Amino acid sequence: MNRKAVLKKIRKKDKTWDIIILGGGSTGLGCAVDAASRGYKTLLLEQVDFSKGTSSRSTKLVHGGVRYLQQGDVSMVFEALQERGLMFKNAPHLVTNQSFIIPTYDFWGGPFYTIGLKVYDMMAGKLGLGPSKHLSLEETVEAIPTVEQEGLRGGVIYQDGQFDDSRMAISLAQTCVDYGGTVLNYCKVTALLKDGDLIAGVVATDEETGEIFSIKAKVVVNATGVFADEVIQMDEPETEHDYTKSGFIWF
Ligand SMILES: Cc1cc2nc3c(=O)[nH]c(=O)nc-3n(C[C@H](O)[C@H](O)[C@H](O)COP(=O)(O)OP(=O)(O)OC[C@H]3O[C@@H](n4cnc5c(N)ncnc54)[C@H](O)[C@@H]3O)c2cc1C
Repeated sequence: MNRKAVLKKIRKKDKTWDIIILGGGSTGLGCAVDAASRGYKTLLLEQVDFSKGTSSRSTKLVHGGVRYLQQGDVSMVFEALQERGLMFKNAPHLVTNQSFIIPTYDFWGGPFYTIGLKVYDMMAGKLGLGPSKHLSLEETVEAIPTVEQEGLRGGVIYQDGQFDDSRMAISLAQTCVDYGGTVLNYCKVTALLKDGDLIAGVVATDEETGEIFSIKAKVVVNATGVFADEVIQMDEPETEHDYTKSGFIWF
């Protein structure tokens, strides 16, 4: 990741990238690794530092979607458990096992959560992080001394994952570069290049020097998270700016 070399590349007026990705959070970096690994000429531009947005401010859980199980979204849970297992395999230095305890206060709570979490374990298959277990009242209090004890009947312990989100982002950026992709931080996209109705690239500013670049691309991906509407407005100025409608998913 040599900034001077990257700036030299993006100054080339005749160069057309296969794909330019706006935003160096988990979404943008994931897209960049995917595109670069398929051999596309890939450029990712981030206006601040990698993962400076939501992607360094998460709860830092790599969960298999246990709450989607309660909602009956089984296919989502299978996919999330698979991804959780792959993250453990691919980045064991960034992902660790985290135990959770659900205290139970009524008669049905114990069997309900024990059976539900056993199903969760089974769905993880070989990628499981350890079996869930019913805890007695004493074991629950010993594990969580500050738990509300009035009416407490016991608990259920289960395993999920925790990760270092910003380090994961840096690892993705490095992986993208390993695959031949190009990533640049402190470079803000301020406008879109158009060819008729089609988007044909971006205008970006080096936030360190103020230098402005016009960069051509066959495909432009808007992975700017809560800023997505601002980028859409560059294309369609009449679009209402409302990040709650931008596809941002509250976790
Ligand atoms: C409170 C909270 C807790 C969460 N906890 C978890 C969790 O435990 N586990 C989990 O998996 N997920 C969690 N999530 C969800 C997860 O953090 C987000 O889904 C994810 O970080 C979104 O990544 P992103 O790349 O889409 O957005 P962002 O990380 O916000 O990235 C967008 C990037 O675009 C850049 N950008 C914007 N405009 C431009 C421009 N014009 N030019 C160049 N760059 C630009 C921004 O600087 C930013 O870095 C949580 C989310 C929240 C809010």
